[in-house]
Amino acid sequence: MIKFGPSGSCGLFAMQGFTHTVQEAKWLAELGLDCFEYSFGRGVRLTEKTAREIGEEFKKYSIEISVHAPYFINLATQEEEKAENNHNYIFGSLKALRELGGKRCVFHPGSPLKADRNEAMDLLMKRLDVVMQLKHEYGYDDMWLCAETMGKKSQLGDLSEVIRMCKNYDTLLPCIDFGHLNARDQGVIKGYDDYKRIIDALADGLGDFKTKNMHVHFSKIQYGDKGELRHLTFDDDKYGPDFEPLMRVISDYKLEPYIACESAGTQTMDALAMKNYYKSL
Ligand SMILES: [Zn+2]
Repeated sequence: MIKFGPSGSCGLFAMQGFTHTVQEAKWLAELGLDCFEYSFGRGVRLTEKTAREIGEEFKKYSIEISVHAPYFINLATQEEEKAENNHNYIFGSLKALRELGGKRCVFHPGSPLKADRNEAMDLLMKRLDVVMQLKHEYGYDDMWLCAETMGKKSQLGDLSEVIRMCKNYDTLLPCIDFGHLNARDQGVIKGYDDYKRIIDALADGLGDFKTKNMHVHFSKIQYGDKGELRHLTFDDDKYGPDFEPLMRVISDYKLEPYIACESAGTQTMDALAMKNYYKSL
């Protein structure tokens, strides 16, 4: 089933006096939304007790929960010590995800830093292989890792790189961040055909199942020469991309992605705008 929800708690949630993620489940259910992405961007700081409390409440209201692993992950790192840290971030996130009762963990693949891009990508693939092997050994075969397309040109994670990452592993899904794809190439997504081209490339590279069940991040994003600058709200009419043509492609192709809206502060209402538009088709 297709799902819509916010990434993190929005401004309105706080304005209405709510203070804790545990309160999101009932709030989102009453608004008619389906999911919520919990960010561990700055580290996995959630006790098991709190995670289980949040998980209980989300289960009660049938709101799916996903997590975003720390931003510090760099699978293309040349330092062994940092490669070890990657494992702490990833498996710390998966442990918390299990306690929360979720199935999807998004991560940023990495950056070449000063290395050659192709060599960095080869190193990333080797490190990813170790991660996926450990994921199996640690008993996380029932959870998805989702490799995200990134918004800055310097980062690894254009569409073809994410397809290459996800190709060899059953439990690795693409996280297609359309705002990032639009920003890294300065506004390439103009309408229906551009979205269709991305989805077709995904289906060609990864097959129907991973395309149908892909993870999606959506927001409008301001960009410059090097790509992403900052997340915007749906009020923006300059940078894009627009969500309406994406909803039409998703509907025409009968896709069932998990869509987390990452608008700056208005992510819950913007997720609802997408859902309402999708339902009207
Ligand atoms: Zn992300």
